Amino acid sequence: MTEANTRRVAYVTGGSRGIGEAIVRALAADGHHVVAVARNGDRLSALCAEISARGGSAEPAVVDISDGAAVTASVEAVIEKHGRLDVLVNNAGITRDGLFMRMDDKDFDDVINTNLRAAFVACRAASRSMIRARWGRIINIASVSGIIGNAGQVNYSASKAGLIGMTKSIARELAGKQVTANCVAPGFTTTDMTDVLPAPIKDKVKEVIPLRRFGTPAEVAAVVGFLAGDGAAYITGQVVAVDGGMSM
Ligand code: NAP
Repeated sequence: MTEANTRRVAYVTGGSRGIGEAIVRALAADGHHVVAVARNGDRLSALCAEISARGGSAEPAVVDISDGAAVTASVEAVIEKHGRLDVLVNNAGITRDGLFMRMDDKDFDDVINTNLRAAFVACRAASRSMIRARWGRIINIASVSGIIGNAGQVNYSASKAGLIGMTKSIARELAGKQVTANCVAPGFTTTDMTDVLPAPIKDKVKEVIPLRRFGTPAEVAAVVGFLAGDGAAYITGQVVAVDGGMSM
């Protein structure tokens, strides 16, 4: 039996940086074997090596999640290798912002494909093993934009609202098998995704956040860690906002 067999196995997309990296670290610290997924293999390998050096357990998986067949193959390979897949976190996401009257089809399709379709494919590939085990946690990283909308993000907010609807439907379908599905909806969080915003825009955003600051990746990861554990067994179909009060 490999070490991973004795640990719950978690598959985290977008695990190379930002919120996903924090989720990988948090789940590894909680004792999971974590499969960290992204395109940048060097970053993934460095992160997994660091976790292993500290006594945790993690492995990299280089996958471009916009390729549905590659996602299915990767998830199935993890189940084959470890004999289990307990926790799926669909975190990888992209933005292609622009005013909707000028947005071209490609920018719409790319965002839906990466943010929503890839999560659907991963959930489908992971669910059989979870159903067999009568235990599973699906956690999809949505966004405050999917709850209240955001000018300049019709593609992104549609993908995130889609994730929320999809998650609730999966939650209903899998509840009888003790597999839960929930969303975590971050607000503005300090990562590469928000670093590109000009300082005056960041200041304006902070004015509409009741807690008056951006969140940290670790603050999002802490909620994911809770939802992934036994303490969250009676929570399904929910959207937990980690947004400083922005969407209330
Ligand atoms: P980020 O810093 O831009 O990181 C994105 C992650 O996704 C990276 O690990 C990236 O890795 C991976 N990724 C992107 N496209 C991929 C693809 N085609 N295949 C595989 N991996 C891919 O983003 P973040 O801010 O941490 O956001 C994480 C999630 O939280 C996203 O779903 C985002 O929509 C959501 N969110 C973020 C905020 C925020 O303010 N930051 C707010 C609300 C929601 P590689 O580049 O190595 O592939």
